[in-house]
Amino acid sequence: MSGDPDVRSTAPFREAVIDLAVIRSNVEALRAHLTATGGAGVRTMAVVKANAYGHGAVPVARAALAGGADWLGVADIEEGIALRKAGIDAPVLAWLHDPTASFAEAISVGIDIGISSTEQLRAVAEAARTTGSTGWVQLKLDTGLSRNGIPAQEWVGAFRLARALRSEGVVVRGIFSHLANASAADDAEQRAAYERGLALAADEGLRPELTHLAATAAALARPDTRFSMVRIGIGIYGLSPWGNGFPAGLGLTPAMTLRGRVAAVRRVTAGAGASYGLAWRTPRDTTLALVPLGYADGIPRRASDRASVSIDGTRHPIVGRIAMDQFIVDVGDAPVRLGDTVVLFGNPATGVPSAEEWAEAADTINYEIVTRIGSRVPRSYRGE
Ligand SMILES: *Cc1c(COP(=O)(O)O)cnc(C)c1O
Repeated sequence: MSGDPDVRSTAPFREAVIDLAVIRSNVEALRAHLTATGGAGVRTMAVVKANAYGHGAVPVARAALAGGADWLGVADIEEGIALRKAGIDAPVLAWLHDPTASFAEAISVGIDIGISSTEQLRAVAEAARTTGSTGWVQLKLDTGLSRNGIPAQEWVGAFRLARALRSEGVVVRGIFSHLANASAADDAEQRAAYERGLALAADEGLRPELTHLAATAAALARPDTRFSMVRIGIGIYGLSPWGNGFPAGLGLTPAMTLRGRVAAVRRVTAGAGASYGLAWRTPRDTTLALVPLGYADGIPRRASDRASVSIDGTRHPIVGRIAMDQFIVDVGDAPVRLGDTVVLFGNPATGVPSAEEWAEAADTINYEIVTRIGSRVPRSYRGE
């Protein structure tokens, strides 16, 4: 049953294939949707933090810009600096900072600093003084998420300080906030708080060019949260921020396919155990195929005995525990051979499992499935 290895195949042992033409067309589709639903002129920020949700920050950033994204968004300054070092000169905003961060390098390479405290505003002024560069900032207001962002009771003080630091080279380019994606009523409450913040800022003489509140979910579902820009993360990867996919007709396609090659095949008799703890035993004679990806590669152990993979167009269940480097698939009597390609997830329109199905199997969200794909899995790119 195991047959000869497919020695002709040169496919890598494990691999995440990212289709950059898909990233580009997802950004185009999102922009077309904004335009078609009253959002003409709304700018788009492609969020490429966390190595572009595991897809590779530099190639994804380039593809998103080619698709018409106006801005790039990252969490850490280091992520923004890496984009600059790769030669990307598009506008970049970074919003999550080490408390002892120096902003000098960031502002000298033209990265906007998302500001969550008056201390950070003062640190930008200091960086502007030492570098002679303008410190472009975007004030992040906490409107209810209670993560970072300036707390409401400190808004006016921060606005006044920002205004006063104008003469020291600090310029407020934007004011933004982030939604909890809770109920419609909760989101509306946050939107109202954000608008109060904008009004208070205007009272202090701040009327920045950029105002932004919505990430993918609100950008699609709540046009009144779009303001002058939307920050799109999960959508550019073709994944839905909701558990059950996108509304029809948006034209968004998953950009990542995760795959590996069958590393071992064996025929076993009924009652044979599989993987650690022998937590699964085969109910009949069957063929087991070994897939060389495990939790070291970001495959959630929680999905043991729950998720499935696709081999040669057929779905096969994972049996037994997912281990650090490998897991076992029960392929029944299918003629699976050593070296065959196994697709863990990709574009479900082609019949393979989706990242969403893995998320359900692991009690998590598709964001986590793609973002946690480990560094041992090489990324390869199509559609450049
Ligand atoms: C991660 C993040 C986003 C992107 O969210 P998606 O749901 O992936 O679109 C937008 N804004 C901020 C502040 C974020 O941290």
